[in-house]
Amino acid sequence: MQESTKELLQKATQVYNENFEPVTWYGRCIFLSWYCDLGTCKFCFRSTVKHKIKHAPTAKRKLSSDLVEAILSKALGWRIEFLTGGYRIFPRDELLKRIKLISKVYGEKIWLNLGVIEKEDLELFKPYVKGIVSSIETIEPKLHDFVCPDKPIKPYEEMFDYAKDFKRSMTMVIGLGEKRKDFELLVNFIEKYQLDRITFYALKPVKGTIFEDGNGPETEDYLWWIAQTRIRFPKLGIIAGTTARRYEEVGLLMQAGANAFTKFPATKMFGTPEAEKIEKDIKEAGRKLKGTITKLPDIDWDKEVEKIGLELELEIEVKEKLKSYLKRMIPKSQIKKMSVVN
Ligand code: SF4
Repeated sequence: MQESTKELLQKATQVYNENFEPVTWYGRCIFLSWYCDLGTCKFCFRSTVKHKIKHAPTAKRKLSSDLVEAILSKALGWRIEFLTGGYRIFPRDELLKRIKLISKVYGEKIWLNLGVIEKEDLELFKPYVKGIVSSIETIEPKLHDFVCPDKPIKPYEEMFDYAKDFKRSMTMVIGLGEKRKDFELLVNFIEKYQLDRITFYALKPVKGTIFEDGNGPETEDYLWWIAQTRIRFPKLGIIAGTTARRYEEVGLLMQAGANAFTKFPATKMFGTPEAEKIEKDIKEAGRKLKGTITKLPDIDWDKEVEKIGLELELEIEVKEKLKSYLKRMIPKSQIKKMSVVN
């Protein structure tokens, strides 16, 4: 690692420690559907022909799956990063029902990342929603128009203007072609809309997109954006994405001043050596992980579901779905001790 990066990380760590407790958490995004009604952003797996063939425009994810994710998040100490998916594929009432139930299960208001949400809908969702996320992806206007031709920034800016009662966040993907000098554009945007939070992602090269031959950003480049943001905005919530391939960076993301990490496939990789390594690196970075990505608590999962008070048919479906998740997640070392898989 270059000396300049080391110095930057030291400074970002110092700023973090002056402003936050030495803790971190895993942020889980919950998908309401796999289909995207835009599907034209040049880096996104949802823009690929393969994805479009596999997922019909009207395909909604089962409510039981979303509820299981919320139950797991609560039980394992994860935070719901946001609900995401195709806003327009749900009739308003159905979307409201889902938001309400997920927030009820989780026991807190949640964040939404569903594109540009109309003002009346936001009012309707308000009792269950604390914040909205704008998927800006990249901040330099020309690059943005090239990468996300059908997702202009302006409607998101308008949403921020009428969503004054909500916390506000944006996403930014590093590796799309942004330049370090664009950092000032990001600073202006965060200041102008008084953002409470930002989520960074490192570009994941997806087959079938124009980025398929790359590797995503260099680690030091990814860290640079996060650390600079931490230094410039000491109190901003910063969430940093990782992947199954980049999981060894999590300790460094902490050093760069991220509050939390997201995008790790935590149910698929629960209790794996990769998850163990993340927990170890977090500790070495001087943080305490709230919750776990390695050890299932020994709780009565059926009772957790019954507590929600769902209609019987949905309750049975959620119990079944939860069992199949837990069977996949249970680390080998715990199998003998747990009763959930019986
Ligand atoms: S980045 Fe978002 S809006 Fe763009 S294609 Fe992917 S899911 Fe759709």
